Amino acid sequence: MRDTPVVERVDSAVYTVPTDAPEADGTLGWNSTTLVLVTLHCQETTALGYTYAPAAAAHVVDDLLAGIVTGSPPLDVPRTHEAMRRAARNTGLPGLVAQAVAAVDIALWDCKARLLGLPLVHLLGAARETVPVYGSGGFTTYDDRRQERQLRGWVERDGIPRVKIKIAESWGRCEERDRQRVRHARATIGGTCELYVDANGGYGAKQAVRVGRALADEGVTWFEEPVSADHLTTLAEIRGQVPQDVAAGEYGYTLPYFEHMLTARAVDCLQADVTRCGGITGWLRAAALAHARGIDISGHCAPHAHAHVAAAVPNLRHLEWFHDHVRIERLLFDGVLDPSGGSITPGGAGTPGLGLALATERAEAYRVA
Ligand SMILES: [Mg+2]
Repeated sequence: MRDTPVVERVDSAVYTVPTDAPEADGTLGWNSTTLVLVTLHCQETTALGYTYAPAAAAHVVDDLLAGIVTGSPPLDVPRTHEAMRRAARNTGLPGLVAQAVAAVDIALWDCKARLLGLPLVHLLGAARETVPVYGSGGFTTYDDRRQERQLRGWVERDGIPRVKIKIAESWGRCEERDRQRVRHARATIGGTCELYVDANGGYGAKQAVRVGRALADEGVTWFEEPVSADHLTTLAEIRGQVPQDVAAGEYGYTLPYFEHMLTARAVDCLQADVTRCGGITGWLRAAALAHARGIDISGHCAPHAHAHVAAAVPNLRHLEWFHDHVRIERLLFDGVLDPSGGSITPGGAGTPGLGLALATERAEAYRVA
């Protein structure tokens, strides 16, 4: 094809945003979150993609990937995606490098959709009009009042009928407080709202089974990473012994990772994070692997990076409306989506690509590189 558009320049930027209160789950705590932004320039078009990763991911973009992406045709994303993946042979793909690849991949899809004047969901092809979301936060650092205020915001103000809180505080050493917080959450949200828990791999195997069975009394239906997702056989055994759906996959950076997890029958619902698993290209493939086994997929965090691709797969369960990232995306971007009623409608405004624009003035205060 003559005059095929090519990427003319790749820029990276890093933004660090303090949390609105100390945040912790069962196995990690944090006071700020860093977003690495990738901007592509092609003809008159500026496109963006991002990941939540340390600033070092921006160096990977600049040093390892920009040279591959510059001059590449954004209409042919899989070709550039594969070239990036191969360039990571010696550095190792999983982890930071995959996060950098994901940010670039998302920006390439955003670029293609903008060049064609289409919302990304219509470029990919919609499988559904709306994407169900669940409110996610309930950090172990919250006291009862803060947890209650957050849950009421989702359920009563936004009308989201699904929420998730963190448990396994301090690597599972506060089991009684975990149970008390879940009881309090159920009392806050009422009897009909779906209640999920995420242990972030903080429990031991027998402990996870004990907690899962006990939480059935509170109508908990989703048990995320009861133990570390590194231990697929243990995860599969727990899955067979608790009444909840067991979910994992947020640390999947490569397609074989998801294949191993599914082969081990470790999950009832596969999670994948578009900002880690290879961007839009990788997330579509992970969804297809799950679909082949009759398993749903759920989008992990970074809701505005997932929205369009989530609407493009038939086996979507839902998308995580994660407090920390929702806050950051509302702060840094214009064009964010409204979760009222419990779902978002990507592409509803007709804006091409992801429908996001960097809110340059607001963002500048948080820029660190
Ligand atoms: Mg999780």
